[in-house]
Amino acid sequence: MPIATRAFAATASDKPLAPYSFERRDPGPDDVAIAIKFAGVCHSDLHIVKNDLGNTRYPIVPGHEIAGIVTAVGANVTRFKEGDRVGVGCMVDSCRQCAPCKEGEEQYCVPGMTQTYGSPDPKGVEVGQTITQGGYSDAIVVDQNYVLSIPDSLPLDAAAPLLCAGITTYSPLKTWNVGPGSKVAVVGLGGLGHMAVKQAAAMGAEVTVLSTSDRKKADAERMGARHFLINSDKDAMKAAAEKFDLIINTVSATHEIAGHLNLLAKDGTMVMLGLSTEGMPVFAMPLLWRRRRVAGSLIGGIRETQEMLDFCAANNIACDIELIAPDRINEAYERMEKSDVRYRFVLDIEKLAA
Ligand code: NAP
Ligand code: ZN
Ligand code: ZN
Repeated sequence: MPIATRAFAATASDKPLAPYSFERRDPGPDDVAIAIKFAGVCHSDLHIVKNDLGNTRYPIVPGHEIAGIVTAVGANVTRFKEGDRVGVGCMVDSCRQCAPCKEGEEQYCVPGMTQTYGSPDPKGVEVGQTITQGGYSDAIVVDQNYVLSIPDSLPLDAAAPLLCAGITTYSPLKTWNVGPGSKVAVVGLGGLGHMAVKQAAAMGAEVTVLSTSDRKKADAERMGARHFLINSDKDAMKAAAEKFDLIINTVSATHEIAGHLNLLAKDGTMVMLGLSTEGMPVFAMPLLWRRRRVAGSLIGGIRETQEMLDFCAANNIACDIELIAPDRINEAYERMEKSDVRYRFVLDIEKLAA
């Protein structure tokens, strides 16, 4: 039976999100049906709702930080059963044949992963869905290979944002071998940034936060940062020159990055995570003079996402959240645009109006 689903959707780039109903597919033999309990609000949701990337198809139900409880499983499902605590992140399928898929890096799938919302959805056609719809909704049906297990010690609401923010920061910290003695800077203390601070500190790194004001200094220190800089403070930036092995740049807008390169030590890397669509100039001299690099990173694979959830559970890391009823989503977006988030809004899906 198809699953009647209540949601919040955007119908145009300049309209507030509003209640929306649709059907999820009848769970097939490999599917897990999930009652969504909590959905994190990622800045990428806002980019897509506002059509910042120019390819949004409306109506769209955002949400790719999903935590919930299994309500039914198909006949071939072995890893999950009714009642399990599970998560779904940014993807719900991929080709499974290409080299990245075979290596467990499905996010870099050559023909393209099926994103949790906004991707063509051949499996949804039976219920009239042409694109995938995300987690600002009370149910979802996902192939078992793209479902994650949420460890018992993590609260479900504060675990939801790990499914995107948590893996997006964990993956580059692992790729660039952060460990005891590493010096890591995190630019932007929002949803991603606060996860980067907690994870890097738990890995043993000496963490510095670069923020646009001193409003979040005490929070940064509580999360494990040893130092805090305001990135418009020229003297402080100068004093931090050549200090960092890795800069995790989580800024959600176009900004000046050339000045950040001097903060890298020899062979240091700045990893860009923000989805800015405009160019940001970098200059050759600071790169070649210390063999520095600018890189990018996209979420993480399914295997690595499970590893991250287990790492967070083992280190008592969850997100700092502001739990809100879904009908406050538009207000949350307004605050997110002003960087006024401490440090992730999470929708309490049980409060979806009937
Ligand atoms: P967020 O919670 O809104 O945090 C973004 C932070 O960036 C803000 O808190 C602010 O930090 C800083 N910031 C915002 N505007 C700025 C500006 N004009 N100049 C300097 N700093 C500014 O956003 P998020 O959910 O963490 O997402 C961050 C970015 O990563 C978004 O673009 C999102 O789409 C992207 N993202 C990428 C991936 C990936 O796979 N690569 C995954 C998820 C999200 P301060 O208040 O400390 O200054
Ligand atoms: Zn996200
Ligand atoms: Zn693939």
